[in-house]
Amino acid sequence: MKNVPETFGSMVFNDETMRERLPRDVYKSLHKTIEAGNDLDLTLANTVANAMKDWAIEKGATHFTHWFQPMNGITAEKHDSFISPTADGRVIMEFSGKELIKGEPDASSFPSGGLRATFEARGYTAWDPTSYAFVKDGSLFIPSVFCSYSGEALDMKTPLLRSMEAISEQTIRILNLFGNTSTKRVHTTVGAEQEYFLVDKEYYEKRKDLIYTGRTLFGASAPKGQEMEDHYFGSIKPRVSAFMADLDSALWEMGILAKTKHNETAPAQHEIAPIYTTTNIAVDQNHLTMEYIRKIAAKHDLVALLHEKPFEGVNGSGKHNNWSLSTDSGENLLSPGKTPAENAQFLLFLAAIIKAIDEYQDLLRLSIASAGNDHRLGAHEAPPAIVSMFVGDELNSILDAIESGESYIGGQKVQIQLGVHVIPSFPKDNTDRNRTSPFAFTGNKFEFRMLGSPMSIAAPNIILNTIVAEEFKQFADILEKADDFKSELNDLIRKTIKEHKRIIFNGNGYSDEWPKEAEARGLLNLRTTVDAIPVYSSEKNLKLFTDHKIYSAQEIRSREEIMFESYAKVIRIEARTMLEMVSRDYFPAIVSYLTKLSRSASYLIEAFGIASHAEKNIAKEISSVLDRAYESYDSLRAVISSELPKTAKERAEFCRDMVLPVMRDLRKAIDTLEELVAEEDWPVPTYGDLMFRI
Ligand code: ADP
Ligand code: MG
Repeated sequence: MKNVPETFGSMVFNDETMRERLPRDVYKSLHKTIEAGNDLDLTLANTVANAMKDWAIEKGATHFTHWFQPMNGITAEKHDSFISPTADGRVIMEFSGKELIKGEPDASSFPSGGLRATFEARGYTAWDPTSYAFVKDGSLFIPSVFCSYSGEALDMKTPLLRSMEAISEQTIRILNLFGNTSTKRVHTTVGAEQEYFLVDKEYYEKRKDLIYTGRTLFGASAPKGQEMEDHYFGSIKPRVSAFMADLDSALWEMGILAKTKHNETAPAQHEIAPIYTTTNIAVDQNHLTMEYIRKIAAKHDLVALLHEKPFEGVNGSGKHNNWSLSTDSGENLLSPGKTPAENAQFLLFLAAIIKAIDEYQDLLRLSIASAGNDHRLGAHEAPPAIVSMFVGDELNSILDAIESGESYIGGQKVQIQLGVHVIPSFPKDNTDRNRTSPFAFTGNKFEFRMLGSPMSIAAPNIILNTIVAEEFKQFADILEKADDFKSELNDLIRKTIKEHKRIIFNGNGYSDEWPKEAEARGLLNLRTTVDAIPVYSSEKNLKLFTDHKIYSAQEIRSREEIMFESYAKVIRIEARTMLEMVSRDYFPAIVSYLTKLSRSASYLIEAFGIASHAEKNIAKEISSVLDRAYESYDSLRAVISSELPKTAKERAEFCRDMVLPVMRDLRKAIDTLEELVAEEDWPVPTYGDLMFRI
């Protein structure tokens, strides 16, 4: 193991490196420009670029690339070398300020949802100096935004930065009301806990479904699943442990504070969590983390599955987005305070967040919607797709007391006035027991748990930042005008709790009763991605996005279009993969097994005069299920080759309503056959192989 403190962040052009490498005045003005969010002037950029290049070359880089996040949810890069020819036929290594600040990738193949068609064919990338550049695989990576020439965001980073701006502005208004005038900037912080499965590469290679779609489209349950609960936090197998050590060490070099690793609930499932950081950096780092999980697994002859639901019948993989608000001096604004005034401020923030989650359940649901995540949320074995909030018993009693005009200290009801009395601090243990809540207060942060394992955490954070900014704005508008601040504050918090407490649910979110109760409370249950997408452009949400300048109406429409389109594409690829596996793997294997059985039966009769029933009965059963499988196969083929509806929305609906159900039937028949056919004749590795043989 390398010396960790020494190698930590060694591949990152971070603050320390900048201070070392840049002239003092350049370092200072760069800092100022970053803090104020101004454009970088070109002379400054030239000096920075030069220092970056020299540093990158020392780290083995020959190329540079703007690194950006198109709307397909993954990252993109295009590498240019530093070389520049000289008059005498040699080359020197050059990198200009212009190249650092702006790139012009040929962007025509990235999804634009119709945006670019109406304007410019090309987009450009621009350096985001708030996220550090780094060296990886021989290239200097420059975290960048990606826009069209007419200024529309074509990526996830631009709206994320806009949302961080919006929430900072509105939070500062609230802080001012409480007498804090020194805070100039508030940023949201995020720590993303990442789940994944590891399977043996040899088994993986034999499963076309894993190769093409990332999940198993067939597979009977293994005799053992996760019911023994012996995997969660269990001892880590040596092979996995070696992988994890390599992963940590790679992430540390990239300046990622990988902190926790453990086995998860399902067999072969694991988790890694970093220490939290500023949201836009956390987003970039989560992309890198997912990339390294995949890459380093390959080095160990393993394959990492980051799909939301790789295996039916066992837990899927999610991502927990821990989210909080922090001032520029590092104060966590979602920590319940130690003084009466701090407590009042905390309760105001809490009330605003409760209101945000209630009023924008639809957008939160949308922010984590994908074809893959539909198998995790709303499926029969998974939590429902209902957004609710967990605050813990203690905080809940406090909210009850405020609502009814009484208050609560240390388990006793006491008449108190907000902003006058101290509310007891909430022990973390008290708040973190509920693992089934989609949005839980965990002591000094909120944990949004509906995210799927492979997704960019940008979208949910854009939504969170924006909806909370909106509520802070509404509260600041009221309170800035108040004659009697304290009484207005009391009224506001009380009214908010009364109107929005329906979103708080401290019970078991996985129980059968919850969806019924949620319906009685009037909470939304948008079961599928296709149900969720249209909420993007509802009047209420359009107003939210445009008011805070997060998305223009056009940017929203483009995102809707892309989501519908990608949903339909995913399902069609899955369906085609099923057809291929059935016709070329499963049917031939099953037929040849049937032949074996009949040969054996005839042989027994011929040689010994024995008329065995076993072969005949097994063959009969297999043959009747095989007929069913063939019927579904035939229907799926028909539905996949039929003409598609015109609009992206209709295509998505078609896939949900006409394709998915047939896929389900086909799977059921094949999974039944798996239980009837000899293991040695079964053409692909089983769930048992994939999950228990690592
Ligand atoms: P858990 O009980 O969920 O395991 P942890 O305290 O281990 O809780 O934290 C889980 C994640 O939350 C970690 O990534 C951690 O860095 C992150 N986290 C902790 N504090 C904050 C915060 N103030 N803002 C954002 N994320 C945070
Ligand atoms: Mg957690």
